[in-house]
Amino acid sequence: MAMTDVRTELPEAARRFLDGKPKQLFIDGKWVDAADGRTFDTIDPATEQVLAKIAFAGKEDVDRAVTAARTAFEDGRWRDIPPRKKETILRRLADLIEANADELGLLETLDNGKPLRMATGEMRGCAETFRYYAGWPTKITGDVLPTDPGKHSYVRREPVGVCGQIIPWNFPLAMASWKVAPALACGNTCVLKPAEQTPLTALRLAELAIEAGVPEGVLNVVTGDGTTGAFIVEHPDVDKIAFTGSVEVGRQIMAAAAGTLKKVSLELGGKSPNIVFADADMETAVRTASLGVFMNTGQICTAATRLFLEDSIHDDFVGRMSEFTKGLKVGPGLDEGVLIGPVVSDEQLERVTGYIDIGKEEGAEAALGGKRIDRAGYFVEPTIFTGVRNDMRIAQEEIFGPVVSVIPFTDVEDAVTQGNDTQYGLAAAVWTRDISKAHRAAAALKAGSVWVNCYSEGDMSTPFGGYKQSGFGRERGEASLDLYTQLKSVVVKL
Ligand code: NAP
Ligand code: MG
Repeated sequence: MAMTDVRTELPEAARRFLDGKPKQLFIDGKWVDAADGRTFDTIDPATEQVLAKIAFAGKEDVDRAVTAARTAFEDGRWRDIPPRKKETILRRLADLIEANADELGLLETLDNGKPLRMATGEMRGCAETFRYYAGWPTKITGDVLPTDPGKHSYVRREPVGVCGQIIPWNFPLAMASWKVAPALACGNTCVLKPAEQTPLTALRLAELAIEAGVPEGVLNVVTGDGTTGAFIVEHPDVDKIAFTGSVEVGRQIMAAAAGTLKKVSLELGGKSPNIVFADADMETAVRTASLGVFMNTGQICTAATRLFLEDSIHDDFVGRMSEFTKGLKVGPGLDEGVLIGPVVSDEQLERVTGYIDIGKEEGAEAALGGKRIDRAGYFVEPTIFTGVRNDMRIAQEEIFGPVVSVIPFTDVEDAVTQGNDTQYGLAAAVWTRDISKAHRAAAALKAGSVWVNCYSEGDMSTPFGGYKQSGFGRERGEASLDLYTQLKSVVVKL
């Protein structure tokens, strides 16, 4: 499909948003070009066509954004307004996201490739994220401490300051919302950097924030690549970095942040074990094992990429899962009924097909799929590898594509030991009708989220984050307030 064909299908608002001049940076409430005028292209992964030109922020632009955020923080235009007013504004922003969910969803589908229905659903989720955190400003309290009677001691919970927030491309606006909503609820200001592959919805969010009444300079968006992100991390006037993305970049960020001792929270990769015992509800387990790894084309940090099957059900389960997976329609996210879109970029396509080759070389067998789909766009067949040992690269390294490694096990001990045998610890799941087995496994699995008889279930109130090299810090829920506030002890001598 040619670019012009795609565009004629777009609703008016989305077309206006895309067809303007190059998308600019959003700094201090204004659209501005990059200081050196550089731009980059964002690509529709379903067509390999350019969607829009995007301003490429360099050091000078990051400086400007940080200065705007610093000024907005220090003069109290956001921090010092009454909590109930912050709530009203954040709730208004939630309503605006919801009212524009169709347009935002379309932008997300074009930029990322994911099915439109899913993208639009995610946008409603973003509205819920803002709605949830809109409830917090009036409920963030300090404490009075039981020091001796000659002193009055209390703790204030204060915002951290300027927050640099670096976002991946797999759930662009959802991940931005998990960071921006709590940061604003706590009274901080933000410099947000979306991934170069998917910058569009973050830019639209900036517009909606202004419309909702978030003061200028409070939410700044700088587009660019990893160098742009690195300038934010190194900037001496940024107080905190929140990052979601790869372990490799997470490591670089932690090292770079050491120079200025910034607060850092990291949500990194995963290689999550999905453990199915022979006594599980097979039909649900089969369906969920497939959707748990193939949704979003496997580009989910919590994807169920290691499927552990009890010996006695192995062959039957793989057969049923392959049948179910064949019924999931692969294609462009704008097509009716599509459940699996393309991977996000040519780079990701290389990576995923590279891992499929590695799996074959390691001796695994593709029970389903196993190659790129021969058409325009970055499409890969959903791939189920059997004959996998947990020490193979395809079982240890994050592929971030529609590829699952099936590994047999004998009993609870074996499943938990193999499940935990990874550098990651983001999520895990257990399928069984035996309550005791479920709770024992849930306690023994080293992961920030454990699901029993379900996958990827959660709510804004449940904390989300990693054990081991999957990162640290918890987003969502009350836990996120710890990332965006700091405690101050005040002692008054009476
Ligand atoms: P990535 O490099 O970790 O990108 C994540 C974000 O960090 C992007 O906004 C990126 O900018 C930025 N960034 C890159 N280098 C940086 C640096 N030195 N300092 C500050 N920010 C920096 O992820 P990717 O390269 O897109 O994907 C590679 C792999 O990461 C995937 O195959 C997957 O395994 C993993 N990944 C994990 C998640 C997750 O949710 N845990 C999400 C995405 C990817 P640019 O994109 O603009 O360069
Ligand atoms: Mg793109």
